[in-house]
Parts: sequence; structure tokens; C-alpha cells
Amino acid sequence: MTRGPRHRVEGVSPHIRPDLDAIPAYVAGRTNPGAVKLASNETTFPPLPSVAKAISEAVELSNRYPDNSATELRTAIAQFHGVALENVAAGCGSVALCQELVQITCGLPTDEVVFAWRSFEAYPIVTRVAGAKAVLVPLNEDYAHDLDALAAAVTPNTRVVFVCNPNNPTGTAHGRAAVERFLDAIPANVLVVLDEAYFEYLRLPAEDRIDGVELGRNRPNVLVLRTFSKAYGLAGLRVGYAVGDPKVIEALMKVHIPFSVNRVAQAAAIASLEARHELLERTDATVAERNRMRDALVEAGYRIPDSHANFLWLPLGERSAEYGAASEAAGVVIRPYGTDGVRITAGDPHENDRFLAFATDPATVARFLG
Ligand SMILES: *Cc1c(COP(=O)(O)O)cnc(C)c1O
Repeated sequence: MTRGPRHRVEGVSPHIRPDLDAIPAYVAGRTNPGAVKLASNETTFPPLPSVAKAISEAVELSNRYPDNSATELRTAIAQFHGVALENVAAGCGSVALCQELVQITCGLPTDEVVFAWRSFEAYPIVTRVAGAKAVLVPLNEDYAHDLDALAAAVTPNTRVVFVCNPNNPTGTAHGRAAVERFLDAIPANVLVVLDEAYFEYLRLPAEDRIDGVELGRNRPNVLVLRTFSKAYGLAGLRVGYAVGDPKVIEALMKVHIPFSVNRVAQAAAIASLEARHELLERTDATVAERNRMRDALVEAGYRIPDSHANFLWLPLGERSAEYGAASEAAGVVIRPYGTDGVRITAGDPHENDRFLAFATDPATVARFLG
């Protein structure tokens, strides 16, 4: 008897949406076991003992489903921000919330999602997965969001505008006044998503200080995304959250994949919020390293936009892929982005030194900046 798939007709496979062919796969930062990884904007610090304890306690209950509404976690987040439980949604990383936000706003191929480019590479993917149209607005010459152009790109078909502040991968950020002016220019029926994945690394002067949750308090069309993956150091557990108008939050809950914020992630996020002072202190060390790296690179002749996040952007254009390969050959995996530039995460001092040894080596400088 021959074994093999039944009812198989040569050359015929199940119907898959043809438009998916045009969607690029998400490119994750590479992991090379022999090399230092400065490619994914992770925190190098392991979870705090109190967080590790919450994680292992939650593991013991793995036979039970998690709380699908994540009520304890959402309550903790609501208290932290001084908002109501109905203002908070949790997601399997804030990247899942990005996708869910497009799902709740877009249903027609003519529906538009506007965002800056380059920005977070998940935006075009989640837009196309939802069958909507991506509208890309080039960054300005300082590699920052061109907020006027972004506002001007809004049409009657626009359903969502993503604003990544600080911007991944360029690290640039806008302060409060500029973002308020932008929000005032957006129609009230268009959802503005302020993606603040790197909020904790912002060190703006008091008059520029920006907090999307505050900006959204009196604006029902503004929703803020935060994540436990970066400053809170839980990238491997997948949990992020949205703060916004109860109507938007309620819609998010409808498209939420049941139980996708798992028990361990919920417990770890609650424990991390409790330990936030200690966790946020760590960002000072990261910011200091980021600044030290930038100074050394600028000194060597690199042009680098001001970074307000835990990474730096080198706009190397056509040389980006080659530079990424050369850095990896020197033992440091960084993240090249097409023909735009490379992004380097600020890691531990000894890791950063390894990158700087490569980057500021006269041979590297001659090869890539000459
Ligand atoms: C890392 C990141 C996120 C969220 O990541 P999750 O791990 O899915 O929470 C969201 N937005 C931007 C811009 C990011 O860089």
C-alpha cells in the first residue's frame, strides 16, 4: 500500500489569499551564538528576583487557562496611569495590539493606515494582513516624523495613523507641543495610535516632556501603546498594553485572540510594575551607554540623529547591508534596514565596546565613511 497524502491532486494546494504574497515576512534581529546581539532593542538585564519568583509561581499553574480579561494586570496598569480599568487593554506584545487596532478600524481595501517611513516594520505588515491600504509618509531630513506631512496624508479614507515616538529604528522623538499641534490637526473620527514602546528612555527637558496617556485623556481618538518588552525587560514573555477610550478598548477585546496574554506573562508584568522603580533606574545606565556610544561614533565621523531610545541609527544608505555583515563578522550582530541604515541597540558596556572597536576602527571608517 502506498502511503502519502490522500486526495492529492498534483499542483493543487489550498486557496490562500493571493494578496499575502505581497506582504514581507517580519524580519527579526538575527541571533548568532558566537556573537554579541545588539539587534533587537532588548534589555540585557535578566528579570529581577521578585519577577523571576512571580514567573515560577505562575508556571506551577500552567495547567489552568489564564484570565482572559487580564483583570488583575489591567487594574495594576490603570492604577499606575490614573485611568479606569475600561481604559486599558492588554495584548500579546504591543505588536499584537497594533494588528488588532487595524482589525477594529479597517474592513475595506480602500481603508487607509497612515504612518511614517522608516518606522516600526510591523505597521505595513499588520495593515496588509488586515487587507487595508498602507500610506507611507517619508521621515524628514533629520530622520524624524514629518508631522505636518503625516497630518496632510489623512484623507476621508484614513482610519488609523500610527505615530512611533520615539521612532524605531531612527530613535528620534517629538516633544509635547509638536505632538499636540499634530493631534489638533487630525479629524476626531481618525484613530491616532501613539506607539510609546521606548517611552522610558526619553529624557526630554521639562517643557518638552511628553506622555501619550496625558495627551489622550481628553481626546477619545488618541490611543497609547506601551510594552513590557523593552525597559521592563520581558521581551520573551510577550505582553504590552493600550490605554485609550473605553469604546476603542471594548472593540479591541472583541478581536483579541482568547487567552493570548498568557498566565506567566500576566504575572511577570504585574510583578514588574510593582518593581518599576528598580527597573526604570536601569534605563539610566542604558541611556548613559547610548550617549557614550553616540559620542564615540560622532567623534569617528559618523552622522547620527539624536536618539531618545535604547538604540542608535546610522544612516548608511546603500552600504547598510554590507556594514551589517562586516559588523557581524567582527562579532556583533546589528540590524540593517534595506538601503536606509543600520540600528544598533545599546547593550552592556563590554558589548558596546566590541561594537565601537569595529565601528571606530580606521579601516572600517575608511571603508564605509570614506
Ligand atoms: C518593540 C516595539 C513594540 C512592541 O513590541 P512587543 O514586544 O510586541 O510589545 C512596539 N512598537 C515598537 C515601535 C517597537 O519597537
